[in-house]
Amino acid sequence: MARKLIFGEIKDVKEGDHFINRKIMMPSSFHRMWARGIDGDKNIGAAAICLSGGYEDDFDSGDLIIYTGAGGQENKKQVEDQSWDHPDNMALYNSFIEGYPVRVIRGHKHKSEFSPATGYTYSGLYKISDAWIERGKSIYKVCRFKLEYDGESQIGAKSINLDYRTREKKRRKDIVVRVVRDTMLSKTIKELYDYECQVCGLRIKTKVGYYAEGAHIRPLGKPHNGDDNINNLLCLCPNHHVMFDKGVFTIKDDFSLSGYESGKLNIHDEHNISIENIKYHRESYD
Ligand SMILES: [Zn+2]
Repeated sequence: MARKLIFGEIKDVKEGDHFINRKIMMPSSFHRMWARGIDGDKNIGAAAICLSGGYEDDFDSGDLIIYTGAGGQENKKQVEDQSWDHPDNMALYNSFIEGYPVRVIRGHKHKSEFSPATGYTYSGLYKISDAWIERGKSIYKVCRFKLEYDGESQIGAKSINLDYRTREKKRRKDIVVRVVRDTMLSKTIKELYDYECQVCGLRIKTKVGYYAEGAHIRPLGKPHNGDDNINNLLCLCPNHHVMFDKGVFTIKDDFSLSGYESGKLNIHDEHNISIENIKYHRESYD
């Protein structure tokens, strides 16, 4: 019996709701898989994930979750590399690419201050803002997903408590800081290249001037902690920015392009790109 895959909120289920077990989440399509963390379709996307302590690399600070993909385990131990080919990882990666909301469920076995003592809690909708590969604690490679709380629909709901209020304030401040910083540094790199994409040379003329994007090589913020520095930035057109962030192409140490793009990155004499960051991007997103 195939239950329908439903994205976003499920009727009659609210953030903070408690479930005594996994089975009762299934009939409504809230989370349809009894023993799996990721609920989705590899060709469409994933609509829900459950954190239940099965993966040692999972990280949880409330609004920010670094979730580990599926696979490579035997008797609950990581014994081989994970890959994007695993259907569950493909499903979640599709949600990343498409920007679908993901319902996050925390179980009592998940080690976090946000976990319930028993059963499971619905923690609201999250958006996936990043996906990459890294070596986990086990030394094997694991697929990683950065999930950020996106449950703004909860504002105005009757049960807003103090936690939510502090969470809102904190997030707004973070966003403002990030935008300002991006704008200033991006402007420098874009002017250095006269708004020409370093991959394809495209220079987009708008009604008010030229348009290009500053792309961070090693992403800023948790968990990558890339440098806020011109040596960690590229001037790219929007297409190549998206393709670079999603690992559609990568850059070799000699600045030749690999993957979907070939040729060489155009580099200005005054632009000392960090090889270490290029490597980091390649190892994480290739
Ligand atoms: Zn381009």
